[in-house]
Amino acid sequence: MGKAEDALRREIVARAREMNAAGINQGTSGNISARLGDRMMITPSGVPYETMEPGMIASVALDDPEGAWEGPLRPSTEWRFHQRLLNARPDAQAVVHAHPAHCTALAILRHEIPACHYMVAAFGGENVRCAGYARFGSAELADLAVAAMAGRTACLLANHGMIVLGDTLARAMWRAVELEALARQYWIARTIGQPVILGRAEIDEALAAFADYGLKA
Ligand code: 13P
Ligand code: ZN
Repeated sequence: MGKAEDALRREIVARAREMNAAGINQGTSGNISARLGDRMMITPSGVPYETMEPGMIASVALDDPEGAWEGPLRPSTEWRFHQRLLNARPDAQAVVHAHPAHCTALAILRHEIPACHYMVAAFGGENVRCAGYARFGSAELADLAVAAMAGRTACLLANHGMIVLGDTLARAMWRAVELEALARQYWIARTIGQPVILGRAEIDEALAAFADYGLKA
């Protein structure tokens, strides 16, 4: 195993623990993948993050529709949407899926997140869509996720959770934390009044400003 692969395995485990510690996921819910050449490295299915080791991360070819894996444990049940998103989105190097409370509650209501805050632009456009429902781990869910993610770096999954993309794992995790914060802010605002939604021009301006914002690597 090369140094790059070893470092990526360690980072995936560290990020998986981080998402639970940050309060945006719990238990064995959620999963993380990262591109490595023509393969993806992905968390194993059903393993508590505290006991997950870098050697347990599965490796799956990005062009294998059967999802054959290398490694001691089966990859995440959601390997299909990770694989399809990485294939559909060459800009993405990492995919983070989690079940944060506020994102998931909105997804249970089948609500998208509108432009209630300029931070919606951090996800690529004027809203964060909610993908339709399909069973966890299904090919149908993968199709729905890819469609809801068009032109975006985040989507909600009906009655399930959310997915974010990043050009690095660090960026994906930043988005995961910000998406849950945005969902919570929108939720609170809706409980006390009618949110004011930003217009197209304000979102375009925020999108342009985000092109030069934050970590570049
Ligand atoms: P895995 O443990 O198989 O990754 O499943 C968790 C999950 O969130 C399924 O949607
Ligand atoms: Zn899930």
